[in-house]
Amino acid sequence: MTRWRHITAERRAGLTNLAIAAAVAILIWFSAWLWRDPPQSPGHQRDLTETTVDWECTNGHQYQARGAYGIGRCPVCDAEAYLYIRYRCPEHGEIGALLWREKDPKGGSTIAGIRFEGRQWVLAPSRIVCPQCGRTLRTVRPDLYHADTKGKGG
Ligand SMILES: [Zn+2]
Ligand SMILES: [Zn+2]
Repeated sequence: MTRWRHITAERRAGLTNLAIAAAVAILIWFSAWLWRDPPQSPGHQRDLTETTVDWECTNGHQYQARGAYGIGRCPVCDAEAYLYIRYRCPEHGEIGALLWREKDPKGGSTIAGIRFEGRQWVLAPSRIVCPQCGRTLRTVRPDLYHADTKGKGG
C-alpha cells in the first residue's frame, strides 16, 4: 500500500515535469515566433514619392506630379489636391476616386481617406470596395505605387 502510493506520487511528479517542459517549449517557440523577422518583400518597392502619379484638386483640375503623402495643393488654383486613382469593379466597371495616403509606423503607407466619384469621403477604409455593390476593387494600374519589376528601361 505505501509502495503503491509512492509510485503514484513519483509518476505524478514525472507528469508535472513533463507539463512544465512542454510549457517551456511552447513559450520558447512562441517568443521565437513573436520576434521573428518580418517577411521580406521581393524586389525594391517604389515609394509613392518616387513615382509620377495623377492628381485632382477639389475644383476638378487634373495634373500629373510626383506622388506625396498627405493632401497636396493644386498648381493651378491652390485648392486641396488628392491622388486620382481608377479602380475596376467586376460588375460596375471603372470608377475614379480621390484619395490621400499617410505613412504608417511600420514604414509602409495606408489610405487615410478616399472619395469615389459622386460619393462622400470615407476615412481610413479597411478595404477598398465598390460604393455600389461592396465588392473589393482592384486598381486599374496595380503597379502604380509598388512597381517592383518596372523602372528598368521603361
Ligand atoms: Zn485646381
Ligand atoms: Zn460594383
